[in-house]
Amino acid sequence: MSNATNGSDQPRRVVVVGSGPAGLTAALYTARANLAPLVLEGEPSSTGDQPGGQLMLTTEVENYPGFPEGIMGPELMGHMRAQAERFGAEIVAAKVTRVKLQDGGPHTLWYTDPSTGEEVQVEALAVVMATGAQAIRLGLPRELELTGHGVSTCATCDGFFFSGQDIAVVGGGDSAVEEATFLTRFAKAVTVVHRRAELRASKIMQERAFANPKIRFAWNRVVTELVGDQKLEGVKLRDVQSGGEEELGVTGLFVAIGHSPNTGILKGQVELDSDGYVVTKSGTTATSVDGVFAAGDVADKRYRQAVTAAGSGCMAAIDVERWLEARA
Ligand code: NAP
Repeated sequence: MSNATNGSDQPRRVVVVGSGPAGLTAALYTARANLAPLVLEGEPSSTGDQPGGQLMLTTEVENYPGFPEGIMGPELMGHMRAQAERFGAEIVAAKVTRVKLQDGGPHTLWYTDPSTGEEVQVEALAVVMATGAQAIRLGLPRELELTGHGVSTCATCDGFFFSGQDIAVVGGGDSAVEEATFLTRFAKAVTVVHRRAELRASKIMQERAFANPKIRFAWNRVVTELVGDQKLEGVKLRDVQSGGEEELGVTGLFVAIGHSPNTGILKGQVELDSDGYVVTKSGTTATSVDGVFAAGDVADKRYRQAVTAAGSGCMAAIDVERWLEARA
Protein backbone atom coordinates (compact mmCIF):
# COMPACT_ATOMS: atom_id res chain seq x y z
CA MET A 1 0.00 0.00 0.00
CA SER A 2 1.27 3.48 -0.78
CA ASN A 3 0.45 6.88 0.55
CA ALA A 4 -0.78 9.86 -1.49
CA THR A 5 -0.29 12.72 0.93
CA ASN A 6 0.91 15.58 -1.24
CA GLY A 7 4.51 14.35 -1.21
CA SER A 8 4.77 14.59 2.57
CA ASP A 9 3.36 12.92 5.66
CA GLN A 10 0.91 15.77 6.10
CA PRO A 11 -2.72 15.03 5.25
CA ARG A 12 -4.21 16.74 2.22
CA ARG A 13 -6.21 19.79 3.21
CA VAL A 14 -9.08 18.74 0.99
CA VAL A 15 -9.98 15.72 -1.11
CA VAL A 16 -12.91 15.91 -3.50
CA VAL A 17 -14.55 12.62 -4.43
CA GLY A 18 -16.30 12.82 -7.80
CA SER A 19 -15.81 14.89 -10.94
CA GLY A 20 -19.22 16.03 -12.13
CA PRO A 21 -20.23 19.70 -11.99
CA ALA A 22 -20.35 19.62 -8.16
CA GLY A 23 -16.92 18.01 -7.69
CA LEU A 24 -15.14 20.11 -10.31
CA THR A 25 -16.65 23.35 -9.03
CA ALA A 26 -15.59 22.44 -5.48
CA ALA A 27 -12.12 21.71 -6.93
CA LEU A 28 -12.00 25.02 -8.81
CA TYR A 29 -12.93 27.07 -5.76
CA THR A 30 -10.67 25.21 -3.32
CA ALA A 31 -7.81 25.40 -5.85
CA ARG A 32 -8.25 29.16 -6.16
CA ALA A 33 -8.22 29.32 -2.34
CA ASN A 34 -4.74 27.69 -2.44
CA LEU A 35 -5.94 24.48 -0.82
CA ALA A 36 -4.35 22.24 -3.50
CA PRO A 37 -7.32 19.87 -3.80
CA LEU A 38 -6.95 16.26 -4.86
CA VAL A 39 -9.88 15.09 -6.98
CA LEU A 40 -10.54 11.36 -7.14
CA GLU A 41 -12.63 11.38 -10.27
CA GLY A 42 -13.90 7.80 -10.44
CA GLU A 43 -13.70 5.23 -13.21
CA PRO A 44 -16.21 4.29 -15.89
CA SER A 45 -18.07 1.05 -15.30
CA SER A 46 -20.71 -1.03 -17.04
CA THR A 47 -23.08 -0.23 -14.18
CA GLY A 48 -23.13 3.45 -15.14
CA ASP A 49 -20.27 4.92 -13.08
CA GLN A 50 -19.07 7.89 -15.06
CA PRO A 51 -16.20 10.29 -14.35
CA GLY A 52 -17.48 13.74 -15.32
CA GLY A 53 -20.94 12.73 -14.16
CA GLN A 54 -24.23 12.40 -15.96
CA LEU A 55 -23.45 15.18 -18.47
CA MET A 56 -20.90 12.85 -20.06
CA LEU A 57 -23.88 10.78 -21.21
CA THR A 58 -25.77 13.77 -22.57
CA THR A 59 -25.56 15.37 -25.99
CA GLU A 60 -26.56 19.01 -26.13
CA VAL A 61 -27.02 21.06 -22.95
CA GLU A 62 -29.10 24.17 -23.57
CA ASN A 63 -29.91 25.22 -20.02
CA TYR A 64 -26.44 25.75 -18.55
CA PRO A 65 -26.12 29.53 -18.20
CA GLY A 66 -23.39 31.19 -20.24
CA PHE A 67 -23.77 29.16 -23.41
CA PRO A 68 -26.45 30.88 -25.50
CA GLU A 69 -25.99 28.43 -28.38
CA GLY A 70 -25.90 25.39 -26.06
CA ILE A 71 -22.89 23.13 -25.50
CA MET A 72 -22.29 19.39 -25.68
CA GLY A 73 -22.30 17.75 -22.22
CA PRO A 74 -18.79 16.21 -22.51
CA GLU A 75 -17.39 19.52 -23.83
CA LEU A 76 -18.85 21.41 -20.87
CA MET A 77 -17.27 18.92 -18.48
CA GLY A 78 -13.95 19.23 -20.34
CA HIS A 79 -14.05 22.99 -19.75
CA MET A 80 -14.84 22.55 -16.04
CA ARG A 81 -11.99 20.10 -15.67
CA ALA A 82 -9.48 22.33 -17.49
CA GLN A 83 -10.55 25.31 -15.38
CA ALA A 84 -10.02 23.41 -12.10
CA GLU A 85 -6.63 22.10 -13.31
CA ARG A 86 -5.53 25.58 -14.38
CA PHE A 87 -5.60 26.62 -10.72
CA GLY A 88 -3.78 23.55 -9.48
CA ALA A 89 -6.41 20.90 -8.79
CA GLU A 90 -4.82 17.47 -9.08
CA ILE A 91 -7.17 15.00 -10.74
CA VAL A 92 -6.57 11.27 -10.37
CA ALA A 93 -8.49 8.73 -12.46
CA ALA A 94 -9.40 6.35 -9.67
CA LYS A 95 -12.47 5.23 -7.80
CA VAL A 96 -12.57 5.43 -4.03
CA THR A 97 -13.16 1.94 -2.70
CA ARG A 98 -13.60 2.68 0.99
CA VAL A 99 -13.41 5.53 3.49
CA LYS A 100 -12.96 6.01 7.20
CA LEU A 101 -14.49 9.29 8.26
CA GLN A 102 -14.24 10.68 11.75
CA ASP A 103 -15.66 13.76 13.41
CA GLY A 104 -13.16 16.59 13.02
CA GLY A 105 -10.91 14.51 10.74
CA PRO A 106 -8.45 13.57 9.51
CA HIS A 107 -10.37 11.24 7.22
CA THR A 108 -8.87 8.31 5.34
CA LEU A 109 -9.77 7.27 1.80
CA TRP A 110 -8.52 4.31 -0.21
CA TYR A 111 -8.42 3.83 -3.96
CA THR A 112 -6.78 1.43 -6.36
CA ASP A 113 -4.11 2.98 -8.56
CA PRO A 114 -5.31 1.99 -12.06
CA SER A 115 -1.78 1.74 -13.50
CA THR A 116 -0.20 -0.38 -10.75
CA GLY A 117 -3.25 -2.06 -9.24
CA GLU A 118 -1.82 -1.04 -5.87
CA GLU A 119 -4.07 0.23 -3.09
CA VAL A 120 -3.36 3.85 -2.20
CA GLN A 121 -4.30 5.51 1.07
CA VAL A 122 -5.01 9.24 1.33
CA GLU A 123 -5.45 11.27 4.50
CA ALA A 124 -7.53 14.44 4.29
CA LEU A 125 -8.49 17.14 6.77
CA ALA A 126 -11.69 17.86 4.84
CA VAL A 127 -13.58 15.79 2.30
CA VAL A 128 -16.16 16.88 -0.26
CA MET A 129 -18.36 13.99 -1.37
CA ALA A 130 -19.67 14.70 -4.86
CA THR A 131 -20.23 11.20 -6.19
CA GLY A 132 -23.58 12.02 -7.76
CA ALA A 133 -26.51 9.78 -8.46
CA GLN A 134 -27.48 7.59 -11.33
CA ALA A 135 -30.76 7.27 -13.07
CA ILE A 136 -31.84 3.65 -12.71
CA ARG A 137 -31.80 2.09 -16.16
CA LEU A 138 -33.87 -0.63 -17.73
CA GLY A 139 -30.80 -2.75 -18.39
CA LEU A 140 -31.56 -3.27 -22.08
CA PRO A 141 -28.88 -3.93 -24.69
CA ARG A 142 -27.55 -0.66 -26.22
CA GLU A 143 -29.41 1.48 -23.68
CA LEU A 144 -26.25 3.44 -22.77
CA GLU A 145 -25.21 3.70 -26.44
CA LEU A 146 -28.57 5.22 -27.43
CA THR A 147 -28.62 7.60 -24.46
CA GLY A 148 -28.47 11.05 -26.04
CA HIS A 149 -29.75 9.56 -29.31
CA GLY A 150 -33.39 9.11 -28.40
CA VAL A 151 -33.05 7.54 -24.96
CA SER A 152 -32.98 9.97 -22.05
CA THR A 153 -33.32 10.00 -18.30
CA CYS A 154 -34.04 13.72 -17.98
CA ALA A 155 -37.13 15.36 -19.48
CA THR A 156 -36.12 18.84 -18.27
CA CYS A 157 -32.83 18.46 -20.13
CA ASP A 158 -33.95 16.82 -23.36
CA GLY A 159 -37.71 17.37 -23.82
CA PHE A 160 -37.14 20.33 -26.12
CA PHE A 161 -35.43 18.13 -28.71
CA PHE A 162 -38.61 16.09 -29.29
CA SER A 163 -40.90 18.79 -30.67
CA GLY A 164 -43.78 17.31 -32.67
CA GLN A 165 -42.58 13.71 -32.14
CA ASP A 166 -44.14 10.58 -30.66
CA ILE A 167 -42.35 9.57 -27.50
CA ALA A 168 -42.72 7.20 -24.57
CA VAL A 169 -42.01 7.41 -20.84
CA VAL A 170 -41.35 4.28 -18.78
CA GLY A 171 -42.46 4.18 -15.14
CA GLY A 172 -45.51 4.76 -12.99
CA GLY A 173 -44.24 6.97 -10.17
CA ASP A 174 -44.29 10.74 -9.69
CA SER A 175 -41.23 11.19 -11.92
CA ALA A 176 -42.77 9.33 -14.85
CA VAL A 177 -46.09 11.13 -14.61
CA GLU A 178 -44.47 14.53 -14.07
CA GLU A 179 -42.12 13.97 -17.01
CA ALA A 180 -44.95 12.75 -19.27
CA THR A 181 -47.00 15.83 -18.44
CA PHE A 182 -44.02 18.13 -18.99
CA LEU A 183 -43.16 16.42 -22.29
CA THR A 184 -46.61 17.12 -23.75
CA ARG A 185 -45.43 20.73 -24.16
CA PHE A 186 -43.19 19.52 -26.97
CA ALA A 187 -44.26 16.09 -28.14
CA LYS A 188 -47.10 15.18 -30.48
CA ALA A 189 -48.10 12.35 -28.12
CA VAL A 190 -46.64 10.68 -25.04
CA THR A 191 -47.23 7.03 -24.17
CA VAL A 192 -46.61 6.08 -20.55
CA VAL A 193 -45.43 2.47 -20.46
CA HIS A 194 -46.04 0.96 -17.04
CA ARG A 195 -45.53 -2.60 -15.87
CA ARG A 196 -48.76 -2.61 -13.85
CA ALA A 197 -52.33 -1.34 -14.44
CA GLU A 198 -52.15 1.20 -11.65
CA LEU A 199 -49.88 4.20 -11.13
CA ARG A 200 -47.82 4.76 -8.02
CA ALA A 201 -47.80 8.54 -8.58
CA SER A 202 -49.74 10.90 -6.30
CA LYS A 203 -53.45 11.18 -7.09
CA ILE A 204 -53.33 14.81 -8.16
CA MET A 205 -50.58 14.12 -10.67
CA GLN A 206 -52.40 11.06 -11.96
CA GLU A 207 -55.58 13.07 -12.50
CA ARG A 208 -53.68 15.74 -14.39
CA ALA A 209 -52.15 13.09 -16.64
CA PHE A 210 -55.45 11.27 -17.23
CA ALA A 211 -57.04 14.57 -18.26
CA ASN A 212 -54.25 15.39 -20.72
CA PRO A 213 -55.35 14.50 -24.27
CA LYS A 214 -51.76 14.03 -25.42
CA ILE A 215 -51.02 11.27 -22.87
CA ARG A 216 -51.99 7.64 -23.39
CA PHE A 217 -51.12 4.64 -21.25
CA ALA A 218 -49.71 1.26 -22.21
CA TRP A 219 -50.64 -0.69 -19.07
CA ASN A 220 -49.05 -3.96 -18.02
CA ARG A 221 -46.28 -3.47 -20.55
CA VAL A 222 -42.51 -3.66 -20.29
CA VAL A 223 -39.96 -2.50 -22.84
CA THR A 224 -38.05 -5.49 -24.14
CA GLU A 225 -36.00 -4.00 -26.98
CA LEU A 226 -34.77 -0.67 -28.34
CA VAL A 227 -35.22 -0.45 -32.12
CA GLY A 228 -32.95 1.70 -34.32
CA ASP A 229 -29.31 1.81 -35.30
CA GLN A 230 -27.79 5.24 -34.76
CA LYS A 231 -30.87 6.66 -33.08
CA LEU A 232 -34.06 5.38 -31.55
CA GLU A 233 -36.87 4.53 -34.00
CA GLY A 234 -39.13 2.48 -31.77
CA VAL A 235 -39.44 0.16 -28.80
CA LYS A 236 -40.71 -3.37 -28.49
CA LEU A 237 -43.22 -3.92 -25.69
CA ARG A 238 -44.35 -7.12 -24.02
CA ASP A 239 -47.72 -7.50 -22.36
CA VAL A 240 -46.80 -9.00 -18.98
CA GLN A 241 -50.18 -10.77 -18.71
CA SER A 242 -50.68 -12.24 -22.19
CA GLY A 243 -47.01 -12.34 -23.21
CA GLY A 244 -47.99 -10.67 -26.50
CA GLU A 245 -45.39 -8.47 -28.26
CA GLU A 246 -45.93 -5.21 -30.14
CA GLU A 247 -43.79 -2.42 -31.50
CA LEU A 248 -44.37 1.21 -30.59
CA GLY A 249 -43.01 3.73 -33.10
CA VAL A 250 -41.36 6.39 -30.94
CA THR A 251 -38.26 8.52 -31.47
CA GLY A 252 -37.84 9.26 -27.79
CA LEU A 253 -37.85 7.07 -24.68
CA PHE A 254 -37.62 8.68 -21.27
CA VAL A 255 -36.71 6.21 -18.56
CA ALA A 256 -38.18 7.45 -15.26
CA ILE A 257 -37.97 4.49 -12.93
CA GLY A 258 -36.09 6.23 -10.14
CA HIS A 259 -32.60 7.41 -9.20
CA SER A 260 -30.01 5.91 -6.97
CA PRO A 261 -27.38 8.00 -5.15
CA ASN A 262 -23.78 6.80 -5.27
CA THR A 263 -23.38 6.44 -1.53
CA GLY A 264 -22.36 2.81 -1.15
CA ILE A 265 -18.99 3.72 0.40
CA LEU A 266 -20.66 6.05 2.91
CA LYS A 267 -23.07 3.57 4.47
CA GLY A 268 -22.68 3.45 8.22
CA GLN A 269 -20.32 6.46 8.24
CA VAL A 270 -22.44 9.48 7.35
CA GLU A 271 -26.13 10.04 7.94
CA LEU A 272 -28.13 9.03 4.86
CA ASP A 273 -31.88 9.41 4.36
CA SER A 274 -34.23 6.50 3.72
CA ASP A 275 -33.50 6.69 -0.03
CA GLY A 276 -29.74 6.64 0.57
CA TYR A 277 -29.04 10.35 -0.10
CA VAL A 278 -26.56 12.20 2.14
CA VAL A 279 -28.30 14.38 4.70
CA THR A 280 -26.86 17.91 4.86
CA LYS A 281 -27.46 20.56 7.49
CA SER A 282 -30.05 23.00 6.23
CA GLY A 283 -28.61 25.73 4.02
CA THR A 284 -25.07 24.29 4.10
CA THR A 285 -23.17 21.33 2.67
CA ALA A 286 -22.11 20.04 6.10
CA THR A 287 -22.92 16.38 6.78
CA SER A 288 -23.34 14.55 10.07
CA VAL A 289 -19.54 14.11 10.23
CA ASP A 290 -17.56 17.25 11.08
CA GLY A 291 -15.21 18.02 8.17
CA VAL A 292 -17.14 16.02 5.59
CA PHE A 293 -19.22 17.99 3.10
CA ALA A 294 -21.59 16.84 0.35
CA ALA A 295 -22.42 18.56 -2.92
CA GLY A 296 -24.50 17.84 -5.99
CA ASP A 297 -26.91 14.99 -6.69
CA VAL A 298 -25.50 12.78 -3.94
CA ALA A 299 -27.39 15.06 -1.55
CA ASP A 300 -30.14 16.32 -3.86
CA LYS A 301 -33.16 14.40 -5.02
CA ARG A 302 -35.19 17.48 -5.79
CA TYR A 303 -33.40 19.66 -8.36
CA ARG A 304 -30.81 17.36 -9.99
CA GLN A 305 -29.54 19.96 -12.45
CA ALA A 306 -25.95 20.59 -13.56
CA VAL A 307 -26.20 24.21 -12.52
CA THR A 308 -27.56 23.41 -9.05
CA ALA A 309 -24.83 20.79 -8.62
CA ALA A 310 -22.18 23.33 -9.60
CA GLY A 311 -23.72 25.83 -7.18
CA SER A 312 -23.58 23.39 -4.30
CA GLY A 313 -19.97 22.49 -5.23
CA CYS A 314 -19.13 26.17 -4.76
CA MET A 315 -20.96 26.15 -1.42
CA ALA A 316 -18.99 23.08 -0.32
CA ALA A 317 -15.68 24.75 -1.19
CA ILE A 318 -16.58 27.84 0.83
CA ASP A 319 -17.75 25.64 3.72
CA VAL A 320 -14.41 23.77 3.59
CA GLU A 321 -12.40 27.00 3.52
CA ARG A 322 -14.21 28.37 6.57
CA TRP A 323 -14.00 25.06 8.38
CA LEU A 324 -10.23 24.88 7.82
CA GLU A 325 -9.79 28.52 8.84
CA ALA A 326 -11.69 27.93 12.08
CA ARG A 327 -9.28 25.08 12.92
CA ALA A 328 -6.09 26.98 12.03
P1 NAP B 1 -40.58 5.65 -7.70
O1 NAP B 1 -41.65 6.32 -6.91
O2 NAP B 1 -39.72 4.65 -7.06
O3 NAP B 1 -41.31 5.00 -8.96
C1 NAP B 1 -40.59 4.20 -9.86
C2 NAP B 1 -41.60 3.66 -10.88
O4 NAP B 1 -40.86 2.93 -11.85
C3 NAP B 1 -42.63 2.73 -10.28
O5 NAP B 1 -43.88 2.94 -10.88
C4 NAP B 1 -42.09 1.34 -10.63
O6 NAP B 1 -43.08 0.39 -10.90
C5 NAP B 1 -41.36 1.61 -11.93
N1 NAP B 1 -40.22 0.71 -12.11
C6 NAP B 1 -39.20 0.48 -11.25
N2 NAP B 1 -38.30 -0.35 -11.78
C7 NAP B 1 -38.78 -0.67 -13.02
C8 NAP B 1 -38.29 -1.48 -14.07
N3 NAP B 1 -37.13 -2.15 -13.98
N4 NAP B 1 -39.02 -1.58 -15.20
C9 NAP B 1 -40.20 -0.89 -15.32
N5 NAP B 1 -40.70 -0.09 -14.37
C10 NAP B 1 -39.99 0.01 -13.24
O7 NAP B 1 -39.55 6.73 -8.36
P2 NAP B 1 -39.80 8.23 -8.82
O8 NAP B 1 -41.05 8.36 -9.60
O9 NAP B 1 -38.51 8.68 -9.44
O10 NAP B 1 -39.97 9.01 -7.44
C11 NAP B 1 -38.96 8.93 -6.42
C12 NAP B 1 -39.38 9.81 -5.23
O11 NAP B 1 -39.38 11.19 -5.61
C13 NAP B 1 -40.80 9.49 -4.77
O12 NAP B 1 -40.86 9.63 -3.40
C14 NAP B 1 -41.63 10.55 -5.44
O13 NAP B 1 -42.85 10.85 -4.77
C15 NAP B 1 -40.67 11.75 -5.44
N6 NAP B 1 -40.97 12.67 -6.56
C16 NAP B 1 -41.84 13.69 -6.32
C17 NAP B 1 -42.17 14.56 -7.35
C18 NAP B 1 -43.13 15.66 -7.07
O14 NAP B 1 -43.75 15.66 -6.03
N7 NAP B 1 -43.24 16.63 -7.95
C19 NAP B 1 -41.65 14.38 -8.62
C20 NAP B 1 -40.78 13.31 -8.84
C21 NAP B 1 -40.46 12.46 -7.79
P3 NAP B 1 -44.04 -0.17 -9.72
O15 NAP B 1 -45.01 0.93 -9.46
O16 NAP B 1 -44.64 -1.38 -10.33
O17 NAP B 1 -43.13 -0.44 -8.57
